[in-house]
Amino acid sequence: MEQEHGPGALVVTAARLRDGRVVDLQCKGGVVTDVAPVGELAVPDRAAVLDAAGGLVTEPFVDAHLHLDKVRTLPLIGEAALTAYTADGMAGSALGIDLASAVKQHYTVERLLPEVRRALEEGLTHGVLTVQAFADVDTAAGLVGVQAVLAAREEFRGRVDVSVVAFPQDGVLRDPGSAELVEQALDLGADVVGGIPWIEESVADQEAHVEWACALAARTGRRVAMLTDDSPDPSLATTAMLAEAMLRHGLTGRGVACHARALGHYDRARQDEVLDLARRSGLGLVSDPHTGSVALPVERALAAGVAVALGQDDIEDAYYPFGRHNLLEVAFLAAHLLDMRSAAQQQVLVDLVTTSAARVLGLPGYGLRVGGPADLLVHDATRTVDLLARHAAPRAVVRAGRVIAGATRG
Ligand SMILES: [Zn+2]
Repeated sequence: MEQEHGPGALVVTAARLRDGRVVDLQCKGGVVTDVAPVGELAVPDRAAVLDAAGGLVTEPFVDAHLHLDKVRTLPLIGEAALTAYTADGMAGSALGIDLASAVKQHYTVERLLPEVRRALEEGLTHGVLTVQAFADVDTAAGLVGVQAVLAAREEFRGRVDVSVVAFPQDGVLRDPGSAELVEQALDLGADVVGGIPWIEESVADQEAHVEWACALAARTGRRVAMLTDDSPDPSLATTAMLAEAMLRHGLTGRGVACHARALGHYDRARQDEVLDLARRSGLGLVSDPHTGSVALPVERALAAGVAVALGQDDIEDAYYPFGRHNLLEVAFLAAHLLDMRSAAQQQVLVDLVTTSAARVLGLPGYGLRVGGPADLLVHDATRTVDLLARHAAPRAVVRAGRVIAGATRG
């Protein structure tokens, strides 16, 4: 580090902040120590200088939902699950999940780990420095998916923060034995208790699933992250069940619901009721409108005071054939799918993969400010519209005051 940047100081010059100011930023000791109008900083001797040349400088991207163990597994099982998951406006999404389970016969750590690494490297290139990574835990895969993702978490420590969700993809009541495997995954070092209550076969089983996960999270001091209501069926109510259970178990602000697509099919009154419950329980929502044809009402949720993020969700797996771990690309797709095109909405889209996503995950200290971590991205784009439209990789990815990726890497 010292060889690249002298005594640890880095000055980023002519940085265009998202509020329009063009400033010089000084980083030292892993934090942003000063922000001043261009030319007004006293640059320390031997400080490294990174000229942003008027390009936008933003916080790093946060991917609040990625099925990291499944990356590039689509070629292993073919397209039957993909077709079923999205057919008929997602009416058969549960069948898609059942078909996708066949990929588990191919699971070995040796097979998964190279693709897990590649996805994290690809994210790093695109400025993704935090990932909430779901890894399947079930009686077919055992702990193989979690072991691969945990190994990668250690390899990337200090560059990309990977939070590992022990995720019982096929349910816990439908798949007896998986609840015990989730506990074993936590013992191995998984960070978050996962769940997918909507896949269970009765409302009582859905309630039992949510209760089990939240009790486990409360008992072990973990956060909880679930896939809820991933179907256009308005009778599904597991997003609300999760919020209520969080309140019951003292997990306020420590839960995330991903997909939650059924919310988009509720009537307005029911939407308002569930969003108010999410706000009161501090339940964050993650939307991924590019991986299915139904989406939760993102702008209504934000207006209700709920933290919302966009997630990459999938990369070439049984549910989605594209993806390159680029959250600007995800935001660009969401602009079309969520009808968010105005200049003000473009700002919101960037929030959904930066500051708002950090709120969803409860990241302490996140944010570009004096005293905050010296983690930032220097982009070629000078306008937000270009940032989204081109969704190009940043020119420099800075972590703890060091350039760790990008064309200008030292
Ligand atoms: Zn997902």
